[in-house]
Amino acid sequence: MVEITIMGAAGRMGRTLIQVISQDPDCRLTGALESASCSLLGQDAGTVAGVGNLNVRLSSDPSDITSCDVFIDFTTPEALKPHLEIAVAKGKAFVVGTTGLQQEHFSLLEKASQTIPVLWAPNFSVGITLMASLVRLAAKVLSTGFDVEIIEAHHRLKKDAPSGTAIKLLEVLKEVYQTSDVVYGRSGITGERPQNQIGVHAIRGGDIVGDHTVSFCGIGERLEITHRASSRETFARGAVRAAKFLAGKPAGRYTIEEVLGL
Ligand code: NAD
Repeated sequence: MVEITIMGAAGRMGRTLIQVISQDPDCRLTGALESASCSLLGQDAGTVAGVGNLNVRLSSDPSDITSCDVFIDFTTPEALKPHLEIAVAKGKAFVVGTTGLQQEHFSLLEKASQTIPVLWAPNFSVGITLMASLVRLAAKVLSTGFDVEIIEAHHRLKKDAPSGTAIKLLEVLKEVYQTSDVVYGRSGITGERPQNQIGVHAIRGGDIVGDHTVSFCGIGERLEITHRASSRETFARGAVRAAKFLAGKPAGRYTIEEVLGL
């Protein structure tokens, strides 16, 4: 039985994670942390997530966590440092899906991984993890004469752009095409498109869970690789799978590719 504490437990991902954990016979929710300003503090996390009472109160006090094997954090970049400190102090594994992280945050993850097992992924779905491999293959085959554009779409409440997943796909493309020429959106008299440039475009609206397309545009043909997430459950299932994978592992950095065996 893997004991899991959720950080950001009343958020969109937090609630979905609690729903997934409540259906998994190999996991148990043992803690539900929220920010001190959360209006739901003191309420039962299971009730808030819509799965009935789980006897775990939403709390902003880490000392309320009596027992835990793995922390799962889906909050904000600002919360990463204090959350890592909690995990390191307790000597427990740390799975994090927060996006919009900067170099300072990656350095914190690296430092913590000397003490505890750490896994960050900008997208926990199987499909996106496979998509990154397919994009790498396509980029290698379509190495000349193709213009590459990334288009992502997310719900109106998303705070960062481009998405962490788009950045991950961009990193793959930059590496294969050996370019750092990236344009984020276009407007005005932009002139002809330079060769070896990668375009990145973010759409925001409604309740879109997360769409990503990489377009390889050649002369007379266009290859598009698209992934569409229709429910947050896919991310939550991947994160819980990662938590089970990490429980009991030695300190270090781990990847979602290792978890999914890709
Ligand atoms: P959300 O705003 O619905 O939820 C975030 C929650 O974190 C809120 O309830 C907020 O009160 C809480 N929070 C903020 N600061 C906190 C703190 N210091 N301590 C405890 N809780 C705190 O957002 P969301 O849609 O659930 O997304 C959260 C993050 O996860 C975003 O960065 C998003 O881009 C990312 N995300 C990643 C994946 C993935 O697969 N990696 C999938 C979906 C979303």
